[in-house]
Amino acid sequence: MSKKRVAYYYDGDVGAFTYGLGHPMKPHRIRMTHDLVSAYDMLDKMHVLRPKRATPETMTAFHTDEYIHFLNRVTPETAEELTYHGTRFLMGEDNPAFEGVFEFCSISAGGSISAAQRITCGAADIAINWAGGLHHAKKREASGFCYINDIVLGILELLRTYPRVLYIDIDCHHGDGVEEAFYTTDRVMTCSFHKFGEYFPGTGTQEDRGRDKGRNYAVNVPLKDGITDEAFKNVFEPVIAKILEVFRPSAVVLQCGADSLAGDKLGCFNLTMQGHAHCVQFLRQQNIPLILLGGGGYTTKNVARTWTYETACALGIENEIDQNLPWNEYFEWFGPRYRLEVPENNMEDLNVKDGSLDKVRATALQQLSQIPCAPSVGMHDVPRQSVGQHLGFEQADGEEGDEDGVADDLDRRLAQHARFVYKLQETTGASDESEDERYDSDGSYPRRRKRMSIMTNRYIDADPGKGPPRRRFFQSAARWDPTYGRVLVGKESVLGLGMRGGLAAMMETGGRRTPGGDVNMEEDRDWEDGVSM
Ligand SMILES: [Zn+2]
Repeated sequence: MSKKRVAYYYDGDVGAFTYGLGHPMKPHRIRMTHDLVSAYDMLDKMHVLRPKRATPETMTAFHTDEYIHFLNRVTPETAEELTYHGTRFLMGEDNPAFEGVFEFCSISAGGSISAAQRITCGAADIAINWAGGLHHAKKREASGFCYINDIVLGILELLRTYPRVLYIDIDCHHGDGVEEAFYTTDRVMTCSFHKFGEYFPGTGTQEDRGRDKGRNYAVNVPLKDGITDEAFKNVFEPVIAKILEVFRPSAVVLQCGADSLAGDKLGCFNLTMQGHAHCVQFLRQQNIPLILLGGGGYTTKNVARTWTYETACALGIENEIDQNLPWNEYFEWFGPRYRLEVPENNMEDLNVKDGSLDKVRATALQQLSQIPCAPSVGMHDVPRQSVGQHLGFEQADGEEGDEDGVADDLDRRLAQHARFVYKLQETTGASDESEDERYDSDGSYPRRRKRMSIMTNRYIDADPGKGPPRRRFFQSAARWDPTYGRVLVGKESVLGLGMRGGLAAMMETGGRRTPGGDVNMEEDRDWEDGVSM
C-alpha cells in the first residue's frame, strides 16, 4: 500500500469541554480517540500538530458578524438574555451555552482550517481533524450540537486554491449546514448519506439537489433504519465513483460522523467499524488530497475505536495493528472484549427489504448523469496564490505578523475576501433584496421550514403567536414519588396527587395551574404549548 503524508490535528484542551451533565455530545470522545491512537504508536508515523485557534474574524467568512459576536461573549449566565429567551442563535435544548463554548468552537474550526491549509500548500496528502465535522451549524445559528461550521470554513480555505471540492458526509444525520452553504455553487459538490424520515434535521431528500449554478451539485442519498456494511457499500461506491468521474474534484473532505455505527445512542444504522472505515479506504485509494473530519457519534467507546481505526487507514497500517486493544488510559471503557471492533447487531435492514436502496441509487446516478464532465469553473475571483498577496500584502501566506495588529488586519481582510467570493456564488440571479431577507423569507431554500431537535427528532419551533419554546434542560416527565414508592410519568399522575403534586405541576407550568387541570399523557405536549413565560 502506498505511503501517504498524514497531518493529524489535535488540541489537548478539547476533551475537557462539556456540553452539560447528561448531554449526549461528549468532547471527551476526541481525547479518548487520541489516547488510543497514541497507545497504538501512530503518533510518530504522522505529523501531529496543534492547530491555531480560529479567530472570530475567520469565522465570519461564513457566519454572520452578529452571531459570532454573540457566541464570543455568551456564558451560561447570560444565555437567556442574549438569546432573547431562546428565540435566537441557540434554539431548543440541543445547543446549550456551555462554559467555554467559543473556545471549543475555535479549536474545532481552527483544526479544519489548518487541515485545509496543510493540504493546499502540498505538505500533506491526508489531513485529520477529529474535533471537526460539525455539519449542522448554520450561518446565523447553532443546530444539532454544532455551533460553528468548521467544514464550511475548511472548504472555503480549499477553494482559495482548488477549482472543485467534493464534500462527502457519512454521518447518520443529513449534512444540512454544508449543503445549504454551497447550495448554489458548482465548485463544491456535497454528497450526504443519511437516515431520512421522522429524523433530524428533516431535510435531505433526492428532490433537494442544488439551485441555480449549483443545480445537481447537491447529492442526497436518503436511507432507512438498519443499513448494513454490504448495503451501504453497494450505494456508496457506485455513487462516489460516478461523482469522481464526472466532477473530478481537486480535493475531498470526508465527514466521518460515527453515529452511523451500529449501537449508536442517537443513530439507527447498523454499520460495523470496518464498514464505516471502508469509505476512508475507498477514498484513500483515489489519490486525491483528502481531509478526514469527525462529526456525530454518541456511543463514545465506539467513536474512539472507529476514528482510531480510520487514522490507521489513513496511514495505511490498518492490517498491521493488533485487534486486541493496547493498554491505554481508558482501557476499562472498552470491556468486556477489549478489542478494536464495532460489531453489527441483529436489527433488520429496511433498505433492502423493499428494494428502496436500488431506487435511491438509480436516482442519484441519474442526477449525476446530468452534470457536465469536470465543469470548467472560472477562477477569476479566487487567486491561486495567497489571498494576502492578492490583496497587496507583502507577507507570504501562513507567516505570522510581527505585530498582532498586522495579523488581525490580515485576518479581517482574508475574511472579507472569502465572504465576497462566497456571496458572488450565493447571490447569482438574486433580486435586490438583502441577503438576510432573501434567506429568511423567499422560501428558496427548503431548509427554512422548521427546526427539529436532534435529541428528540421532534419539531421545536414555537408557534409565532404563542411565544418562545419552553426550554427544558434534560428534565424527564418521569418523577420518583416516595409516597407511592414508584415512578410517576406525565402531568396526569402529578396533578392527581393533591398538594405535593400540585406544587410540582405548578413549578412545571411556571407558577400556573394547567388550565382546567386537564389530563395530558403526551410527554411532548408542553414543547408545543410553550406558554409558560
Ligand atoms: Zn449525526
